[in-house]
Amino acid sequence: MIYDVVIIGSGLGGLQCAYTLSKEGFRVCVVEKNHQLGGCLQTFKRKGVVFDTGMHYIGSMDNGQVLNKFFRYFKLTDALKLKKLDESGYENIRYGGKEYRFAMGYERFVETLSEKFPHEREALVKYTEKLKEVSNAVDIYNLRDFNGTNSGYMSFYGQGIDPYLDTITNNQTLKSVLLGTSPLYAGVKDKTPLYIPMIIHSSYIESAYRFIDGGSQISDLLERYILGNGGTVLRKAEVTGFQFNGHMLSAVEINHDERIEGHNFISNIHPKRMVQLMHGSHFRPAYRKRLESIEDTYGIFTLYLAMKEKSFRYINSNFYHYDTTNVWDGDRYAADEWPKGYMMHLSPGSKDSEFTEAIIINTYLNWSEVEKWENTTVEKRGDDYKEFKRRKAEKMLDRVERDFPGIKNSVAAYYTSTPLTYRDYTATARGSIYGILKDYHNPLKTIIVPRTSVPNLFLTGQNINIHGVIGVTISSILTCGELIGLKHLLSKMQHAL
Ligand SMILES: Cc1cc2nc3c(=O)[nH]c(=O)nc-3n(C[C@H](O)[C@H](O)[C@H](O)COP(=O)(O)OP(=O)(O)OC[C@H]3O[C@@H](n4cnc5c(N)ncnc54)[C@H](O)[C@@H]3O)c2cc1C
Repeated sequence: MIYDVVIIGSGLGGLQCAYTLSKEGFRVCVVEKNHQLGGCLQTFKRKGVVFDTGMHYIGSMDNGQVLNKFFRYFKLTDALKLKKLDESGYENIRYGGKEYRFAMGYERFVETLSEKFPHEREALVKYTEKLKEVSNAVDIYNLRDFNGTNSGYMSFYGQGIDPYLDTITNNQTLKSVLLGTSPLYAGVKDKTPLYIPMIIHSSYIESAYRFIDGGSQISDLLERYILGNGGTVLRKAEVTGFQFNGHMLSAVEINHDERIEGHNFISNIHPKRMVQLMHGSHFRPAYRKRLESIEDTYGIFTLYLAMKEKSFRYINSNFYHYDTTNVWDGDRYAADEWPKGYMMHLSPGSKDSEFTEAIIINTYLNWSEVEKWENTTVEKRGDDYKEFKRRKAEKMLDRVERDFPGIKNSVAAYYTSTPLTYRDYTATARGSIYGILKDYHNPLKTIIVPRTSVPNLFLTGQNINIHGVIGVTISSILTCGELIGLKHLLSKMQHAL
């Protein structure tokens, strides 16, 4: 069988492309190397508790808001089990020994932070105006068609978030607080472009929701719809090579063995991994070189806590803690300084709304700390790796205990992951958290478009556009637009509203 479209990888972007194209009558086949679909949407269960691995909360899900509209097209809006975070403070930034809350709604955000920064109201208003300006500039975000390959926020690609904040305030504490959620975009002071934090923050400020029972709901539902549309989904099917007929891609090789043939191909995997798998001269040397030389975002250490029954009260906010005055330097630490901070998410249980069953704590972890195990695979890394993780977990727990006294006693069991875990589950370079690191000094180097020099191979996912649920959804629209026409797809999406 020759499929109309073979999709490599079942991350959110791959599944959304498969959904869109199968709905349009294309015979699609998704090939996924893991048993579980979803990439970063994967969850795991221990002691009956569900843990998210790479999707903790989503934004703009209230009626009429952007993700709510997109997800209506994907039949997800009314199907997901979600819990709205605390509108008066969905984020808690703990910086310099004080706590600052981000409220939902532009005006409420300004009011809440103005209580802490009474002389900075004007700066806060300017900041929220910028959030609106950037999100309004993205044509697809607003379901607007556009001409050419780049959307409306091109003008923001060359601006950095750090210098932008200097134009609105001299107050270094306020600046740090506004950058307090930088782990959401793996911020780097002299690289992170303005539009990335702005798109992410504008989405959450509108409304922020956690998943009840995990983000894999999204991949489960999309799989069901794809199969219902006649699509095929292959698990444990790792693409190990590409086969060409002239300059056109004709098949992917699966597990060094089987061939899956197609007329068109969409790659949802990290572009660096894709070029590694593609031998020969099918890509221009300059393109290959550019992809290979792009830096990736950093990796993280994650501590997953399964809590004793009815022992730790559920808190309906996220926490971002800093033990450093420089919010940009979390990834630069001496051994005794780690962790310099952390972000913490609590999961709302479906059975008990008063207490939490699961807490997830993330902090930076440099690749150099795990490099010596780089030639190992999951569950086969040896006792010294287990001991390394145990020490890190204990240190992390001691750190968190200072902010949440008693938390250690409430833990029934804990589990951990490192950049090696992400590398092996999602195949990102060195377990990078969000893929390619965008650089506002050199936007053309780090921005990748869906088209490639192979006419029937397209790219999608977090490395095209922005990471995260909105960025990836927009990528999938851009990618499918290449095959079925963007105008046509956007009108279908508008009709779904
Ligand atoms: C710790 C963490 C927390 C996050 N939290 C949030 C959050 O709260 N909210 C939010 O919006 N975003 C969050 N994100 C980001 C978001 O999850 C990702 O940007 C998004 O899910 C990536 O989707 P993707 O389509 O690019 O594919 P990926 O998730 O990268 O999936 C790629 C898929 O391709 C498969 N694959 C790779 N190589 C091959 C091969 N050779 N053959 C076959 N299959 C292959 C992989 O197994 C994987 O399933 C988080 C990410 C991380 C890591």
